[in-house]
Amino acid sequence: MGTNIERNKPCWCGSGKKLKHCHKDREDQAPTDMWAVADRIRKAFSSKYCLAASASSHTCGGRIVKAHTIQKSTSLLSIARDGHVYMSSSDPATLKRTNGRLIPKLVGINGASTFTGFCAKHDDSTFKELEQYPFSGSREQLFLLYYRAFCRELFMKRAQLISLNDLKDADRGKDEVAQSYIQNMLRGMIAGAQKALSTMERAKGIHDKALAGNKFNGYESYTLFFDSEIPIMCSGCIFPEYDFHGSKLQDVTDEAKHTDMIAVSSFNDGGAGVVSFTWHIEDSQTCKVLIHTFESIQDSMIADITTSFLFEFFENICIQPGWWENLTESQRSELENRMNSLNQPWAPRRSTCLTGAKLQIAPWPIRQRIKAYTLPW
Ligand SMILES: [Zn+2]
Ligand SMILES: [Zn+2]
Repeated sequence: MGTNIERNKPCWCGSGKKLKHCHKDREDQAPTDMWAVADRIRKAFSSKYCLAASASSHTCGGRIVKAHTIQKSTSLLSIARDGHVYMSSSDPATLKRTNGRLIPKLVGINGASTFTGFCAKHDDSTFKELEQYPFSGSREQLFLLYYRAFCRELFMKRAQLISLNDLKDADRGKDEVAQSYIQNMLRGMIAGAQKALSTMERAKGIHDKALAGNKFNGYESYTLFFDSEIPIMCSGCIFPEYDFHGSKLQDVTDEAKHTDMIAVSSFNDGGAGVVSFTWHIEDSQTCKVLIHTFESIQDSMIADITTSFLFEFFENICIQPGWWENLTESQRSELENRMNSLNQPWAPRRSTCLTGAKLQIAPWPIRQRIKAYTLPW
């Protein structure tokens, strides 16, 4: 029983509400139904809308599709076994069984790596150059790889922020220590998500303009071509924290600073594996250092290090079943550990996250490295 003044003070959790309307007597409240929360989170990640710049009831056409972030025809089929690939599974039933640990699970390729962020018409028209023609590394194709990874990331970040806010009630019925632990953790995660989202909402306008005007000279890239097909398909964006030598690149938690972002795609095309990095010139400073250290990796190590990198940073990866099953127990567990660093957003990233990979898991020879910078180093 606090005094009236105390009850009317702003709540300690930072919600902006008065204490009496927020955390007062929260330990005595009925616990939150976490299955209902999980269901709302699932809905946030499967909400349907079109991300095209010109999206409206007049310009959109067809249903909102399950847009593939990895080209389905050429890439996913090239690594599928009986129509299935391994992906990291974050569905609640699996996580309950594995004690919260992400593990790769076989999924059908129709649902693999999709998101519901484009109508059928805009999905077709926007990515035509990428879907209908062989990959040549043209500026337009590199831009589209970037744009697709970016749009998916934006879609996920929006859903993530809704979900994190929803979790603020998860401390109902818990003691004060647990309440403060949960609220502190959420505060940091929400601030991070908000920062990333506002950066991306602003950048969306820049990318939409480039797409509409067919002007791609504001983007830079680095592409690796392998001699054979590769077993890991991926598409995503990251805010890199460390380079491939383990040096700090940028402080992603600094709310006052712009955070540089890079998009990465790996796929198979015409019998060869491709791993492509693309970024906007506003993000050059960080991305060029990252790529510079990547470039210095010798040919014999680069496939191994690339593979570790993909597992460390991207939840949207599809894995060839035969390759995964043929790894040794310890190789698999090393890669699973990397996969699970994604699952602990509150834990700081290890500075060695990109170095020291001597797993010998990826013996694919390099054919060519192509730089497409518009600015000098
Ligand atoms: Zn509160
Ligand atoms: Zn549309």
